[in-house]
Amino acid sequence: VAGLLSGKRALVMGVANNHSIAWGVARALSAAGAEIAFTYQGEALGKRVRPLAEQLGSDIVLPCDVEDLASVDRTFAALKDKWGSLDILIHAIGFSNKNELKGRYADTSRENFSRTMVISAFSFTELVRRAAEMMPNGGAAITLTYGGSTRVMPNYNVMGVAKAALEASVRYLAVDYGPQGIRVNAISAGPVRTLAGAGIADARLMYDFQRRHAPLRRTVTIDEIGGSALYLASELSGGVTGEVHFVDSGYNIISMPDPRSLQV
Ligand code: NAD
Repeated sequence: VAGLLSGKRALVMGVANNHSIAWGVARALSAAGAEIAFTYQGEALGKRVRPLAEQLGSDIVLPCDVEDLASVDRTFAALKDKWGSLDILIHAIGFSNKNELKGRYADTSRENFSRTMVISAFSFTELVRRAAEMMPNGGAAITLTYGGSTRVMPNYNVMGVAKAALEASVRYLAVDYGPQGIRVNAISAGPVRTLAGAGIADARLMYDFQRRHAPLRRTVTIDEIGGSALYLASELSGGVTGEVHFVDSGYNIISMPDPRSLQV
């Protein structure tokens, strides 16, 4: 894959630390020759992201809180200043109040519903709109989603509803930006141990269940998610847009666990 993305510029949003899915994606894009710019949310994470960016030879590391429109505007103004144009946008951002990632979905508060929707779903639309202005030669936008969007996963609750909205946005954005040669896709990843993942109650049970019952009998790595992102970001997937691509060891095809996976 060396050189597959040479001359391309990617903005990677959502690295919190070296366990982040966005970090796996950044590494894969960088290994294929892309130049990477990073954003981080808040100075505490900035301290972690800067040395990671350095590892990939990147010196564009910008603060961005997607809940704050002025912050988003500042980020893109700064990026435009540095680069002028952009080829790839990676959106690996999600948030919901931890207290509502347990128990019943029915008990979700209005306040957390709105906040979860804005940060985890609407931010993608807002970021694609800004990124597209910097993509005169077409490009690729990729977001991260989870199978809790279409099927009920215990405790995923309002985040599942937000992921459903995010996946629908992928399809609408694909239609809006297709004529400009901008492809919009989502990766639906299986459970990964990250900061965000740890916010979901009984996350360990989800990892263990996946490991036992997915067709590949294991969870996925951030490098595997990075590999699929590289495909979606490059001309290898030139004819693909509006898709939700599963990178989940095949878990999504399962209805009932295979009796053989129930034997210890
Ligand atoms: P992570 O905690 O490493 O990354 C989540 C990121 O979202 C962090 O960098 C955080 O700073 C950022 N974020 C939250 N609120 C923000 C805001 N207001 N402004 C800007 N950034 C904000 O966890 P991750 O698991 O790598 O999550 C990345 C994406 O992958 C999320 O959309 C998540 O829902 C999705 N995903 C995760 C899993 C999993 O099991 N970990 C599975 C499928 C999809």
